[in-house]
Amino acid sequence: MAFRVYRPYVFPDTIAPEIAKELKRLGVKFEPELHEETDAIVCLLGVKVDAALLGRAPRLRVVSNVAVGYDNIDVAACTARGVVATNTPDVLTEATADLAWALLLAAARRVPEAERFVRAGKWKRWDWTTLRGADVHGRTLGILGAGRIGQATGHRAVGFSMEVLYTSRQRRLLFEHTTLARRVDFKTLLRESDFLSVHVPLSKETRHLIGAKEFSMMKPGAILINTARGPIVHEAALVKALKSGRLAAAGLDVFEQEPAIHPGLLKLENVVVLPHIGSATDSARRRMVETALRNCLAALKGEMPPNAINAHALEQKK
Ligand code: NAP
Repeated sequence: MAFRVYRPYVFPDTIAPEIAKELKRLGVKFEPELHEETDAIVCLLGVKVDAALLGRAPRLRVVSNVAVGYDNIDVAACTARGVVATNTPDVLTEATADLAWALLLAAARRVPEAERFVRAGKWKRWDWTTLRGADVHGRTLGILGAGRIGQATGHRAVGFSMEVLYTSRQRRLLFEHTTLARRVDFKTLLRESDFLSVHVPLSKETRHLIGAKEFSMMKPGAILINTARGPIVHEAALVKALKSGRLAAAGLDVFEQEPAIHPGLLKLENVVVLPHIGSATDSARRRMVETALRNCLAALKGEMPPNAINAHALEQKK
């Protein structure tokens, strides 16, 4: 039997031969449009999967997101229709944690600003006061959401002799053991962190979790790093906190209205902005596509996908 899969993007990476073989064996046909005969969707964050979209594809069995975050998918609507939703955890964890650190170091030591200074021909002589930044080693890193990426980011702090604090609803004993991290409540995390790195998923509970009130509780001179999702941070409040000097800097890979960025942020020298490239390494991207295709193939064969978000959706279908 052939399957019709809506894939609004073409992924340029070559995929593992066994996956290519399986796609061929099942007669999977990728199509750029969604329609009544669509069996599966393999999509990126830009595709909003809601009840309206699901209504246009009555045969749909699986929505396979090529991302670990799935705030673009209305999971309840999928479950109600017996559609299983899947994501790609683990394969992008280390790449994203690396990027959180790239932002942390860049923001603390003013790396992009210093580069702009050199390229603009402003470097005339070595100077004692030029572009002084913040120490990283020996300071306190706060991890908001010690899941896969939060913990991987925390592990890297050991090499910088940092104290690690974290919040999570569950205690992470192994993480505590390997990093000597301390689990604290959200307020303590805000008050005690020199660097606050955001790693919670975007949800109703976490939207604007960090706003004006939270910035006012943070250490003066603290640095915010966000590689999770833009809407977790209230961008207008962030601009104010950076302008007032409450925060020394911010390193951001994600924004409230991507690809638009609050104009106030772009005017500030002490903000490092990146175009949502947390998982953008060749190996992470290739493995994300492969994971998504494995999830999709499993569902098409009537099996439970390895990374089902709403496994109970399949019960619904029976
Ligand atoms: P994960 O393993 O599920 O980690 C998220 C953690 O957040 C969980 O451990 C959860 O722990 C905690 N959490 C959830 N809600 C919370 C709340 N209200 N307060 C405090 N903690 C909360 O996910 P991950 O793989 O680390 O990915 C995290 C996020 O990173 C993704 O959802 C995605 O949005 C983002 N991401 C971005 C990029 C990028 O390109 N910039 C790349 C990959 C991922 P508890 O259940 O114990 O609270």
